[in-house]
Amino acid sequence: MTSYPNLLSPLDVGSIRLRNRVVMGSMHTGLEDRLRDIDKLAAYFSERARGGVGLIVTGGYAPNRRGWLAPFAARFADRRTALRHREVTDAVHDTDTRIVLQLLHAGRYGYHPLNVSASKLKAPISPFTPRALSTRGVERQIADFVESAKLAKLAGYDGVEVMGSEGYLINQFLAPHTNRRTDAWGGDAKSRMRLPIEIVRRIREATGDDFLIVYRMSMLDLVPDGQTEAELIELAQRIDTAGADIISTGIGWHESRVPTIVTSVPSSAFTWATARIRAAVGVPVVASNRINTPEAAEAVLAEDRADLVSMARPFLADPDFVAKAQRGQPERINTCIACNQACLDHAFANKPVTCLVNPRAGRETNPVYLPTPAPRRRRYAVVGAGPAGLAAATTLGERGHDVELFEASDVIGGQFNMAKRIPGKAEFAHTLRYFEHRLNATGVTVHLNTTVTASRLVDGAYDGVVVATGVTPRTPDIPAIDDPKVLSYIDVLNGAHVGGRVAIIGAGGIGFDVAEFLTHSGGDTLDDWQSTWGVTTDPDARGGVTTIAPVDTAREVFLLQRKTTRVGAGLGKTSGWVHRATLKRRGVVMIPGVEYQRVGEAGLHISVDGEARLIEVDTIVVCAGQEPRRDLYEALQGKVSVHLVGGADVAAELDAKRAIDQATAVAVAL
Ligand code: FAD
Ligand code: NAP
Ligand code: SF4
Repeated sequence: MTSYPNLLSPLDVGSIRLRNRVVMGSMHTGLEDRLRDIDKLAAYFSERARGGVGLIVTGGYAPNRRGWLAPFAARFADRRTALRHREVTDAVHDTDTRIVLQLLHAGRYGYHPLNVSASKLKAPISPFTPRALSTRGVERQIADFVESAKLAKLAGYDGVEVMGSEGYLINQFLAPHTNRRTDAWGGDAKSRMRLPIEIVRRIREATGDDFLIVYRMSMLDLVPDGQTEAELIELAQRIDTAGADIISTGIGWHESRVPTIVTSVPSSAFTWATARIRAAVGVPVVASNRINTPEAAEAVLAEDRADLVSMARPFLADPDFVAKAQRGQPERINTCIACNQACLDHAFANKPVTCLVNPRAGRETNPVYLPTPAPRRRRYAVVGAGPAGLAAATTLGERGHDVELFEASDVIGGQFNMAKRIPGKAEFAHTLRYFEHRLNATGVTVHLNTTVTASRLVDGAYDGVVVATGVTPRTPDIPAIDDPKVLSYIDVLNGAHVGGRVAIIGAGGIGFDVAEFLTHSGGDTLDDWQSTWGVTTDPDARGGVTTIAPVDTAREVFLLQRKTTRVGAGLGKTSGWVHRATLKRRGVVMIPGVEYQRVGEAGLHISVDGEARLIEVDTIVVCAGQEPRRDLYEALQGKVSVHLVGGADVAAELDAKRAIDQATAVAVAL
């Protein structure tokens, strides 16, 4: 008897049986772009197929050069490419998993001068103004979609997913926001819909009945002048009639100013939009976005909101997601915490995609991250149970070593115990739950409440010691910084009293998190979130967006930094804008170029551009970065074999991505 009867039940779609209702959604990993990486791509998908997922959707492949995401990015337009992809499809078909190739034409999102669109309107996220396609040009794009689909069949794919959402070319034809044409491909809604309908109809004609066609549809455009509910329902019905087997959910355009996948977006936040399309069509419909646990996925199906559930990043975090759910061990799933730090932030920086909580993702053939059994069982001590120590201890244990983990406090997790208190970051607790169970499974002996000393470690005669002692907060050299109104971020996150007017010294990741913590006024429901970002369920509202409601903030906050650059410029590419917009809306005053003069009775004395200013505040919170905590490491030098990882190694610009990655690689090498 399974706890996930809906999620794990098979589904027949046309002539194809999917072994369960779990879809691994499309993600660009960087491995798609070069044919020489095909073995890596095959290993990456094969690991996920062996983990039991029902259907895999590849990253997006352009049908032609004009549809490239960037120069020389993934394209599926010739026989040689198709034949090389047999390595991928054969590897996946060694299991019962099915795989479809995503066809994505970037349109005006193409980051190159050849890009094209419905109309000559530059996208806010590309510097290149597109050329408006001629009527013949439109026909050529359709023909190229069809040709790519035929090649996908030759490559052994079970079908294709036609990318019709997220603001790419097809979406650009669908919405008046970007389609100003007056020919047969523009004007009223019927004409704007012609492009996807023709693509699906002609792919069906060319590939026959035993080939899956998934259509990824924008359920909510989240841009002004997007589609209305009535238009979306008509589109879904016509796509169904044109020959699609499955309709998959896409939410929001890349240029939208509404976050759709960062940590602060509530779980299953958009399934209401999927449900209304599902009610109008006969084909199975897939829900997606911010569904990252088998419980949440099961609930979506049990409540009849969708027929399948797509999860993308959760499969970077844990390829065995489905297998663990099937075995009744959901507590062992390494849950995606929606941080975007190693996946989307990498993709946008043209770096290979991996995962903060699973550094092996995307590097399945790289021995640095492969925890092979140790040739000889050795004894190791790991000091510090933050993310770095946890990754090191469990990797060593998994390899068969005898491991003792020492932690000074009464819980594992280090700074993640503070991170999870930040509004919108509660899911960081999943990582601690995962490690708790992995420590058990790998036989690591954990000593909590134990501040271990160098002499104890030397006396222990370990074969090696991994020092993961983390950081200590930096206290800036500002006159009267020891004033009682000055608190560290640790005091604040541990519940110290904070006044109504606050200055924050330091605007890095922690400064921003503390500002969110101090200005959060409590509303955590889906309705609160929708009104914060101007999302509406009103069927007549174009794009599903409306005006944003004013916010009540709990405090008046000043966020300060010495650099003269824009405050928050160093935050993550795909999440930083959400943090900046949130604080702006809550009236947080951000001041760059600050020189700190002194702490005084009335507040914080600073100067900006040589001009003296007093920020009148009740509380000053220091978030001025950290120093590595290395005293233990230094005391062990020359006495035992010692390895330094995580914040204790590099505190400047340290993040958990680097800490877990480094600790895993060190533990694999020992
Ligand atoms: P730590 O987490 O600092 O752990 C070190 C551990 O060692 C501690 O538990 C300590 O008690 C223990 N220890 C120290 N000395 C001894 C000793 N002698 N004996 C026994 N135990 C000892 N990073 C991100 O990447 N993304 C984020 O969104 C993010 N948000 C954050 C939000 C907040 C509010 C904070 C505070 C941090 C955030 N971070 C984030 C940073 C992230 O938490 C750190 O990068 C990460 O925790 C570093 O891991 P670590 O294991 O090296 O050190
Ligand atoms: P940080 O990002 O290095 O920021 C430290 C801040 O303090 C900077 O704004 C810096 O700016 C200021 N500062 C440094 N030295 C100072 C001094 N002597 N006096 C006054 N101000 C000083 O560090 P953090 O905010 O503490 O974060 C720690 C790590 O956790 C970071 O590496 C971060 O990546 C990670 N983290 C990430 C997130 C995330 O959302 N991705 C969230 C939280 C934390 P100026 O020098 O210009 O003043
Ligand atoms: Fe999820 Fe963060 Fe890993 Fe991306 S990097 S898959 S968001 S945990």
